[in-house]
This record gives sequence, C-alpha cells and structure tokens, in this order.
Amino acid sequence: MAYSDYHVHTRFSPDSQADIEEYIALAKKLGQEHIIFTDHREFGALDPKFNIHIDYDEYIMLMKDLEEKHQFKIKVGVEIGYMKSYLDEIHDFLNRYDFDFVIASIHYGDEGDFYLGNFFDGKTKYKAYMDYFELVLDMVENLRDYDVVGHLDYIPRYGPYEDKHYDYGDYKDIIDEILKVIIKNKKGIEVNTSGLRSPLNVTFPKDEVLLRYKELGGKIITVGSDCHFVDHYMANVKETAKKLEAMGFQVRK
Ligand SMILES: [Zn+2]
Ligand SMILES: [Zn+2]
Repeated sequence: MAYSDYHVHTRFSPDSQADIEEYIALAKKLGQEHIIFTDHREFGALDPKFNIHIDYDEYIMLMKDLEEKHQFKIKVGVEIGYMKSYLDEIHDFLNRYDFDFVIASIHYGDEGDFYLGNFFDGKTKYKAYMDYFELVLDMVENLRDYDVVGHLDYIPRYGPYEDKHYDYGDYKDIIDEILKVIIKNKKGIEVNTSGLRSPLNVTFPKDEVLLRYKELGGKIITVGSDCHFVDHYMANVKETAKKLEAMGFQVRK
C-alpha cells in the first residue's frame, strides 16, 4: 500500500487556493488508496481571515459527491487551531462532526500570533520557545478527540532570531512531559515535512524528539507535507516515512 499524506490544505483553508480535484487526480496517479484533507478550523485566531469558517455540513457533502464522482476514497480530516479559552467549543465542534482524522495544532499564544510575529515581542528565544511548549503541553493535557499533535516543535519556523534552531537538551523536560502525556492518552504525533521546504531543513518534530518518542513507547505516527499547493502534495513524505520505519516506527498509510 502506498504512503499517504496526512496533512493537506485546500482552497477551503484561508491560506490556500489548492484545487481539491487536482489533488484527487494526483493521488490516483500515485496509486494511493485514499486522500486525506485537513483544512484549518481555528479557534480564537488572532488573524481575522482565519475566523471565517467552513460550513462543515456543506463541506462533508461536497466530499461525498467528489468521492462518488471520482470513485476514490476521501478521508475528511481537520486541523484544529487550539486555544485554551475555546476548549468547550472545540469539544462541541469535534462531537458534532464525525471526522476521519484530527490534527491538533498550536498556531498562536494568548498573547500573540506566531505568523504576525507579536508572540515574540520582548522575549528571549528561550522564553518564547518555552512559552510555545507550555501551550502544547496545556493542549495535550486538556484536549480529547484528536489523533495527532501537529508540527510539535515548529516554533523555530517563526522565531525572529538569528539562529532559529533549538537544542532538544534545553527543553528536554517539557518535551518529554508532552510526549508522555500524548502516549498515556493513546494519541500520536505527526511528522510534518514542511520544514524540509524551508531554510531550517528539519522535520517537525526533529529526529532527536522522534527518537525520544520511540524510546518512551510512542507508536502512533503519521507523516504530512502540510501542503497549501498541489505541487507540494507528498513532498518528502515517502522519504520521511522510510526514515521512520528505519527507526522502528510503523507509519500509518
Ligand atoms: Zn498548522
Ligand atoms: Zn497545516
């Protein structure tokens, strides 16, 4: 069975124009058995364009129609943008729709947006990255009904620092805590390959964290490109999946 891309954005995400049927045609051409779409559903986004939401009744109906039209299995997923103060709303939302796959992500802190940059205002790199990991820890301690944590250590992507990279050793305690909670709750992590398309040239999370996840008993793992363009569909997914298998993981297909 062919590997799958477990993190795919379409024109239904505010930051993508990608055509759904082009993705389907590509997935068929690659000999895949299904495709998974994980458009954004943000809660408490600071960037207003992310607060215009998909009508999921229509979205799910559209996916069913496309499945019929192309005779191809579509898994309807979602990437949740978590914010603590919206926890009840997020649970209501996830209870209302029967998603095939849910990614839980942190895209902003209570104080600021990573993308717009104000999350980092007046913070040292250590403090900003630590604040980010605290948000991830809070999410995994409180959120139910998700499958994998999205891009677990991607905060360096946005850090306005000369050397954006972080050393696992500097954040070992909190990262271990996050991984232990994920494992205890029988959830998983994704390995997001978007960092391989950036100057950082790493997966999120990076290898040391993946090895630690394995060491702590982590099993559930998916690989996703986080594509916002059809051209990036499956980018570095196969190579990353093979690397994970060499580490001893069984990658979800
Ligand atoms: Zn994300
Ligand atoms: Zn995404």
